[in-house]
Amino acid sequence: MSRVFYQSPRGTKDILPSEEIYWQYFFNVAQKTLSGAGFTKIETPHFENAEIYSRGIGETTDIVQKEMFLLQPTSSDEQVTYALRPEGTAGVVRAYIQNGMNSWSQPVRLWYFGAMFRRERPQRGRYREFYQLGAEIFGDESAKSDYLVVMSAWEILRRLGLSNLIVYASSIGCPDCRPKFYAKLKKFYKEKINRLCQDCLVRLEKNPLRLLDCKNERCQEIAKEAPNILDSLCPECRIHFQNTLEYLDYFGVRYEIESRLVRGLDYYTRTVFEIATINDKGRQSALGAGGRYDGLVQLLGGPVTPAVGYSLGVERIIEVMREQKVKIPLPRGVEVTIVQLGDKAKEVSRDIHDRLVKENINVFYIPSNDGLRQQLQAAAKLDSRFALIVGQREAMKAEVILRDLSTSTQETFAIKVLVDEIKKRLK
Ligand code: AMP
Repeated sequence: MSRVFYQSPRGTKDILPSEEIYWQYFFNVAQKTLSGAGFTKIETPHFENAEIYSRGIGETTDIVQKEMFLLQPTSSDEQVTYALRPEGTAGVVRAYIQNGMNSWSQPVRLWYFGAMFRRERPQRGRYREFYQLGAEIFGDESAKSDYLVVMSAWEILRRLGLSNLIVYASSIGCPDCRPKFYAKLKKFYKEKINRLCQDCLVRLEKNPLRLLDCKNERCQEIAKEAPNILDSLCPECRIHFQNTLEYLDYFGVRYEIESRLVRGLDYYTRTVFEIATINDKGRQSALGAGGRYDGLVQLLGGPVTPAVGYSLGVERIIEVMREQKVKIPLPRGVEVTIVQLGDKAKEVSRDIHDRLVKENINVFYIPSNDGLRQQLQAAAKLDSRFALIVGQREAMKAEVILRDLSTSTQETFAIKVLVDEIKKRLK
């Protein structure tokens, strides 16, 4: 029989223990930062009715047109086409509406963490399954919430120990002022129509704002000359943007106004932002992005509800943490391994084991019949700080040998003082 060698699916990866410690640290820092800023955690399903994405993200976006993992209905009683979630916001909005969160005390501040799926062409830093952490605030139209989301993302990254962070911010206006800007933009681009790429010809008709962030070199040159959206904002949008920036100034957040920042998703209004790091060679890495989406709750069938949020790309952040050699606290491993020899010793060891567990000391103990050498070797392999050796003689005298495996020194202690001694040494 030929041997089969299975590989993980294209664009996915295993997170092995040496990397996983960064993930745990990331999660802990994010959780502490967000709950400290008044956010509570929500989990929504990994798949949803595909319509919430096509309506919420926008039919013309790459995510919906090319990148969704669709689950076609398989039996006649399942009429719905589901999609693996390509992002988190639409599902959270669906949950907000379905669970009547508009009747909760507003604003409602939520955060999530989980896998997202996009059928992208895999390349460095781009996966088909990747993790995002996101935060959303519903029910507050003021710039206070724009500030709070930007600041909470900034704070997570700062507390993780990342350096060279920068926020790029802009405003893309509202349904009042954006049409006027679209008119200007279309006029400008129609004059250059012969120089546009195929995709931009479609954008010109369906999603003009995205003309500004086309990756095609020639289109980028054109975009540099294009009308600036910030010149077309209505007074309300202008004040909102100013207020948001004033908060950031107050806290000394490093930001730049980037008027060509538009975001790929249709549901944004007013504030849009990205957070990036810049390395020594000037290479940028986008760590996250977000913005205000005052129209989305209504678009998905809910009551008119202003909202603002962001998502951070966890793989990218961890990559940058490793590049920047950020020091992270290691999780506590095995602290004490119990090594016992004989029946009486086993009895005493069970009692010692229970006492150590109660004191929140990490103890490794298998009541096997292995010999002394074998058990000590196992303790060394586990990187255990101490071995507690209980032989027949020690068991009779209610004593144990405490061996420090880092120094290979040992001392005998009465069992009754043992826990205190270990605690003292672990400090
Ligand atoms: P988006 O949801 O497209 O606004 O992306 C927000 C952040 O998620 C980006 O800044 C990236 O850090 C991360 N991200 C987006 N797509 C991917 C992907 N395919 N693989 C890894 N990270 C991603």
